[in-house]
Amino acid sequence: MKTTHIEHLGIAVKSLEESIPYYENLLGTKCYNIEEVKDQRVRTAFFQVGQTKIELLESTDPEGPIGKFLEKKGEGIHHVAFAVENASEALAEAESQGLALIDKVSRKGAEGMNIGFLHPKSTHGVLIEFCSK
Ligand code: ZN
Repeated sequence: MKTTHIEHLGIAVKSLEESIPYYENLLGTKCYNIEEVKDQRVRTAFFQVGQTKIELLESTDPEGPIGKFLEKKGEGIHHVAFAVENASEALAEAESQGLALIDKVSRKGAEGMNIGFLHPKSTHGVLIEFCSK
């Protein structure tokens, strides 16, 4: 798979309300979108930094993926998302190389992007997401 850039960094936070002003101040840019992604059980907030975004992730359910992450590890970097031409094709290619997947095919994520995750057990501990328009 050919990645073109880091599309976004996903950062788990306890509270968007508390974190947004901090990141607005740190990055010198306003949060431009807040969106709930129901099937991921998160609320997301986005900042644009060059061609890369910062995606803050607040859990809406303690049993959801971010709820569990916060419980186990606390706030911090949750995943790295690489932009690819076609997320489903990139997932298939990764699988053909023997990488474990969380998503066999891409699904709709925040901002209408097609997204899919590799499993961290085969990615040296980093949760990797592929992202395409
Ligand atoms: Zn993401």
